[in-house]
Amino acid sequence: MTWETVMGLEVHVELSTKSKIFCSCTTQFGGEPNTHCCPGCWGMPGTLPVLNEKVLEYALKAGLALNCEITRYNQFDRKNYFYPDLTKAYQISQIYLPFARNGYVDIVTRSGEEKRIRIHEIHMEEDAGKLIHSAYGDYTYPDFNRCGIALIEIVSKPDFRSSQEVIAYLEQIKSTLEYLGISDVKMEEGSLRADVNLSVRPLGSDKLGIRTEMKNINSFKSIERAIDYETSRHIETLETGGLLVQETRRWDDNKGKTFSMRSKENSRDYRFFPDPDIPPISISEEFLLQLKAQQPELAHEKKVRYMSQYGLSEYEARLLTESKFLAKLFEETVELSKNPKETAVWMLGDMMYLMKEQSLEASKLCISHEQFAAFITAVASGKINRTVAKPIFEKVFASHDFDVNKYIKANNLLQINDEDIIKQVAKEVINENPGTVDEYKSGKNKVFSFFVGQTMKKLHGKANPSTVNAIVSEELEKI
Ligand SMILES: [Zn+2]
Repeated sequence: MTWETVMGLEVHVELSTKSKIFCSCTTQFGGEPNTHCCPGCWGMPGTLPVLNEKVLEYALKAGLALNCEITRYNQFDRKNYFYPDLTKAYQISQIYLPFARNGYVDIVTRSGEEKRIRIHEIHMEEDAGKLIHSAYGDYTYPDFNRCGIALIEIVSKPDFRSSQEVIAYLEQIKSTLEYLGISDVKMEEGSLRADVNLSVRPLGSDKLGIRTEMKNINSFKSIERAIDYETSRHIETLETGGLLVQETRRWDDNKGKTFSMRSKENSRDYRFFPDPDIPPISISEEFLLQLKAQQPELAHEKKVRYMSQYGLSEYEARLLTESKFLAKLFEETVELSKNPKETAVWMLGDMMYLMKEQSLEASKLCISHEQFAAFITAVASGKINRTVAKPIFEKVFASHDFDVNKYIKANNLLQINDEDIIKQVAKEVINENPGTVDEYKSGKNKVFSFFVGQTMKKLHGKANPSTVNAIVSEELEKI
């Protein structure tokens, strides 16, 4: 039987407001346990929440950018449960009137497939604290620093059919929120976390199978692996006559498996009701228009523009626009160098390689766009050749203050284009290697590169490669 995987995603995003959603405590990552807290964060009786206006503004920006209808009159509700990392025994969330509904994201997968993923709703809520278990299993220490950090939860419709689609969607959400400047979207610090609801069904069926939920998987690679594992587990269970249960499962990245955590709660377990401490929110048309006007050009819009304006391929444009920091560097460099193609080649080749090698994020790049542009101009104009250019680029990449033109001059790295000089050296090489010349003459064309290499070596790698090729060929013909 052919099976189809059906998935829906719940994405939690920490908003990067300076203070928490209902109190003025800092949202800074890290810090000694329980130092970023007040009685409100600890759930002390008698404390009252006050909504941080910035949270509402950031949340609405996300809702608008993700094509949602904004609920102009929305409210907060209490989701009651007992967890040791949220001591007031309820989470303030939005159940009945979430601030955004019926949105969508248009994705393009790695294999070029286009698809619209519908967003069911987005709501605001507060984050819980963290439990730190001692290494010997004797104690659990609660840390409430994270308690009360503002979250939005983006709930999709069950529109995903493959891990590729999930990754494309997450990448787009991540870049959109980064461009909006409302979250630092760092998966490794937990500011972007995804829960995957997954079920399988016979292809062609419109009935949903039993679903399991995998919580808080914190890298794209792990999400892909977890989905592939869980899909096989479902299919195998069903094909061998086993029974699936609706439950929450934990993904163990080291073991490459999921494990049962708890059976899924029903919504009636939470005893939802409107929070009596927070007045409902009414949003004016004017405020929404103002926020809409502030919306920057987003990654997918930039991508389309790069393709038409700069003649880049979909792949090139996608990689350059995924991060707003890369896109900014690209645009500033092109403005000075007037050479989008060459700039793209170096950014996507050597620069991405160095970033990967050094595990450097785009936001941490120290490269100066002025020096990068000077470098691009030097390469494109033939001032330096590509062999010489490579190590120079590494220096441009490593330091903001590196001066490209000064370095080329001081180290005498200008490309040698003078045909007389190249001809003289090529002749020397030919005269010094009569045996190899004979091989060449007897039809062994492979040795041609030997002459080119030797000539280049004698010119310290600085000669124009195509001129060297032409002259060596010419000189060998003469013999
Ligand atoms: Zn607080």
